[in-house]
Amino acid sequence: MSKTKGLTPMMAQYRRIRSELPKDSLLLFRLGDFYELFFEDAMEGAGILEVALTRRGVIPMCGIPYHAADNYLHKLLRAGRKVAICEQVEEGSTGRIFERRVTQILSPGAHFDESILQSNRNNYLVAVCVRRDRAGVASLDLTTGEFGAGDLPLAELREEIERLAPAEVICPEGDEGLRKLLGGGSWILGGYEDWAFLPDAAGNTLREHYGVTSLDGFGLSNCLLAVAAGGAAVHYLTQHLRRDIRHLRSPERRERGDHLILDPVTLRNLEVLEPLDREAPRSASLFGTLDCTVTPMGARCLRRWLSRPLARPEAIRERQEIVALWVDNPGILADFRTLLGSVRDLERATGRLSAGYGNARDLLVVRNALREVPRMRRMLVDLAGPDHPSGLDRELHELPELVALIERAVEESPPVSLREGGIIRNGYHGPLDELRQAGREGKDWIDTIRAREIGKTGISNLKIRYNAVIGYHLEVTRGHLGKVPDHYIRKQTLTNVERFHIPEIKEVEGRILGAEERAHQLEYELFQGLVEQLLGQLEALHRTAAAMARLDCLSTLGEIARLRDYCRPDIGTEGILDIREGRHPFLEQVLVEEPFVPNDAALGGEGPQIALITGPNMAGKSTYIRQVALLCLLAHTGSFLPARSARIDLVDRIFTRIGASDHLSRGQSTFMVEMSETANILNHATERSLVVLDEVGRGTSTFDGLSLAWSILEHLHNRIGAKTLFATHYHELTTLSERLDRLGNYQVSVREWKDRILFVRKILPGGADRSYGIQVARLAGIPAPVLDRAGEILSRLEKSDLALEEKKRGRRPRRTLPSMPSGPDLFTWSD
Ligand code: ADP
Repeated sequence: MSKTKGLTPMMAQYRRIRSELPKDSLLLFRLGDFYELFFEDAMEGAGILEVALTRRGVIPMCGIPYHAADNYLHKLLRAGRKVAICEQVEEGSTGRIFERRVTQILSPGAHFDESILQSNRNNYLVAVCVRRDRAGVASLDLTTGEFGAGDLPLAELREEIERLAPAEVICPEGDEGLRKLLGGGSWILGGYEDWAFLPDAAGNTLREHYGVTSLDGFGLSNCLLAVAAGGAAVHYLTQHLRRDIRHLRSPERRERGDHLILDPVTLRNLEVLEPLDREAPRSASLFGTLDCTVTPMGARCLRRWLSRPLARPEAIRERQEIVALWVDNPGILADFRTLLGSVRDLERATGRLSAGYGNARDLLVVRNALREVPRMRRMLVDLAGPDHPSGLDRELHELPELVALIERAVEESPPVSLREGGIIRNGYHGPLDELRQAGREGKDWIDTIRAREIGKTGISNLKIRYNAVIGYHLEVTRGHLGKVPDHYIRKQTLTNVERFHIPEIKEVEGRILGAEERAHQLEYELFQGLVEQLLGQLEALHRTAAAMARLDCLSTLGEIARLRDYCRPDIGTEGILDIREGRHPFLEQVLVEEPFVPNDAALGGEGPQIALITGPNMAGKSTYIRQVALLCLLAHTGSFLPARSARIDLVDRIFTRIGASDHLSRGQSTFMVEMSETANILNHATERSLVVLDEVGRGTSTFDGLSLAWSILEHLHNRIGAKTLFATHYHELTTLSERLDRLGNYQVSVREWKDRILFVRKILPGGADRSYGIQVARLAGIPAPVLDRAGEILSRLEKSDLALEEKKRGRRPRRTLPSMPSGPDLFTWSD
């Protein structure tokens, strides 16, 4: 039986349109002044939208007013749903229903909803496909026009996606394995037609979309997987979501070798983008402490730089050069940043306009930004000289014709709406001025009619008013009704007044309303014309926005370097890491009770390959090893460093295993997480990596933990050769230096005073020989009787047989439980 049998023509039309849409979308069906949802969509949508579920006959329905749709759409997108917008496109001939068509489908990775978008974050849609052991990844941000594609080993895919933190990911629907691999993330995951990901089909999609015969120009021709993912993304947007993305930027080839690889665990552990502690202020992260950018595009750019530092020395030195220029010219720096601060989000304004979501205010954002370009360029020439190789100013385009056009055409404070007029200035377009004149004259005529009627009838308080139901009318108060002439046609009776028509008023009304309506329509068309003109300059606008973002970042790094006394690190390739008087970039900013104590670090070259750092809890071990990793990362972004001097040779990856991250929600025990993170490091680190390990082995029993820590260190030393910082409170590990010649012992020094300790936060050569657990417990406020008793137990343990035996061998006693087997010393056996 046909599904549409017995339905009204409109519901049959609904059914037809619904059946052609992706199953995972909700259909918003335009009906007069409302978007309505029906059937299952209504039952689900009512809950998400928080509107009442009603019925049309037996059909469940709910609706939202079309003019306030924006207030509701974000709820659906936030809930991870796609939203198909079906509009009335044409009035059917008498007795027939409206023609309706789905004009676009919004999805979490493809929308312009300001209430969800964050100004300092990209909103990525990512397409992924896999062939054997490699994966193609395309990432695309419609709001800024950014589009990148590349390939990478399959084993690194999940990490790459986590790093991108997209809003939505699509992959071939038939690839179950891939869907499993990408499941459970913070993004919406969806399948898309397999064939769209085939390199041939995807290549065609891209060539057709960009009107080119070869993809060579994008650097994609020899990377089938990048083409496959990129083409599928474009296909998905244009065919599935029915979006107009003619103005998307050309895809940029992403090469793995261009960037230092940071896995998501490391980004999290080092608090690169956010603090680990959600309650902590934003400034307690690397991004938070450095983000003094003055535009949203600069903030997005800084976020990208920090999560994707550079891997090529020339590229890093190029950024350093410019940061140095800013540091050396504080006067220009201040002026430039003030000027740049007056520019708003040129990138997103351009993105909105080019995707058909822009309004007149976006045109003004573009104009205001471009208007400042000449001054910016002059400042940059003052800064770097006219022939500076970085060509700082060359990417900033002035586009004076576009500025003049917008200036001439657009009102200074236009409304958001494009349909209510108020956009276009007088004098820009003759026919528009005439229509406006006609509207104004109409209003004058009304005044004339009113004066004349008052004169004729003697109704002194006669008014001419307007309402949506009866249009323009004469209004007479009750007391004057006797004076109303016969030819007035009564239209409405209210308690105190009666309302009348006269033919002449209706005629004028036709002229006023007609003129206003036509003027609004004309303004809309003129606005579209301006957007067309702007699109002709899109490439230059994109470049200008990108250059402003870059300059914002670089000048921010200059400002930070200047204010916080950062130094320019030497960058090399010989595997040396040498930091003098380094400081922790955000801890030094937030510490209030004690000043931050700087520390040196030396690994590789003449220094050891592994630094084993011992010291009591709370002494500053974690802080120190994170600090070294953060400074290494920061050096790869081109930033200066919080240190007196530094030499940082390039590393291929930074790995971290720090603290007990809370994965309990994923059902993994702390120790399991600790070991799987360590396994990842041991399986992937190379001689060129920097590895930071904090308290490995703490999650299990002392002997287990010590043994694991021991053998992990041996493996890093003998097999991998990665530069390693290893912090531990197992001071027993310090004996390892006797066996591993490239392992150096360091301790966080403490001062003892009576039975208390004082942290001095200085890292010195040598190993700690005690854990000071009881002293730290005292600082934490453990009651005195408990501490006294612990002291007694400790001294008894120290006098136990095992301890005595060790003493005989000339060692300091180690605290072990009396029940531990005595026997061969675990830590002195030979291989
Ligand atoms: P550990 O890892 O040894 O237990 P942490 O690194 O967590 O110790 O440091 C404990 C606290 O000591 C930090 O929260 C910080 O406030 C302070 N601290 C650490 N290093 C320094 C330093 N170099 N200068 C000043 N204070 C520091």
